[in-house]
Amino acid sequence: MTALKLLDVRSARLTAEQVLSFDDVTVRYSAGGVEAVAELTLTIDAGERVALIGPSGAGKSTILRLAAGLASPTSGSVKVFGVDSGQLGRRNHRPERSRIGIISQDYTLVGPLKVASNVASGRLGTWSGIRAVQTLFRPGPTDDIAGALRQVGIADKIWERTDRLSGGQQQRTAIARALFQKPDLLLADEPVSALDPARSDSVMSVLTEPIMFSSTKAVVTSMHDAPLALRHCDRIVGLRSGRIQFDLPASHVSSELLDELYQLDDSQ
Ligand code: ADP
Ligand code: MG
Repeated sequence: MTALKLLDVRSARLTAEQVLSFDDVTVRYSAGGVEAVAELTLTIDAGERVALIGPSGAGKSTILRLAAGLASPTSGSVKVFGVDSGQLGRRNHRPERSRIGIISQDYTLVGPLKVASNVASGRLGTWSGIRAVQTLFRPGPTDDIAGALRQVGIADKIWERTDRLSGGQQQRTAIARALFQKPDLLLADEPVSALDPARSDSVMSVLTEPIMFSSTKAVVTSMHDAPLALRHCDRIVGLRSGRIQFDLPASHVSSELLDELYQLDDSQ
């Protein structure tokens, strides 16, 4: 590599946008309770696909909820696109809020609405109040909505009532909503937990590929299936009892590290 090219790469790194940062974050859900997250310091830059893995109770969902502004740190700070995550709900931070796509474990879909309307609601944050309400009941041109549903394999469900779908189909509706939103930061909490292995692989590709075409800047996802995480993410953060046990490129995560991460601990 020439000196000039090396310089280019370095300056690109220096200017990489910091998407998400946790600075010495601790979360306790109740005074004197266990630390769901303990002294977490972690930075995620544009271009990263990060998987949070670890046993149940490790703190994965709490970290994603902090990033989404849905939980607040007991101490420390969480910043998303440079804004304190606790401020994301405020009116003056609507632009930053609409840059974040969330796929939560309970999907947060509106059951009686059609699938098309739930998918369309992915862009609610960028629309005026009147347009948002109109769109929920009459989603309008549906090419993009159908496209998002096609990507997750349920294009034929577009006009079904959402609560008539199976669990796996509802999970895919929530994913289609996030794809339709085209967020800069995608936060996904066990996004394929209700899908079979082949569908999980295909959906994970759909979730992580937009990064390469730069429509999405970073993906942070929790997963209980470590091999699936290794196949689709570049950076793997292993968590246990709210602490980072390792933070490594996927190619450096060995089966020994995974065994250690998931080993049963009678004290917990
Ligand atoms: P994971 O997603 O890795 O399973 P969580 O973030 O859900 O982990 O949980 C981390 C810890 O915080 C666990 O000990 C869990 O019992 C606790 N916890 C999570 N949510 C709550 C809550 N709403 N109230 C009280 N404790 C909670
Ligand atoms: Mg969880």
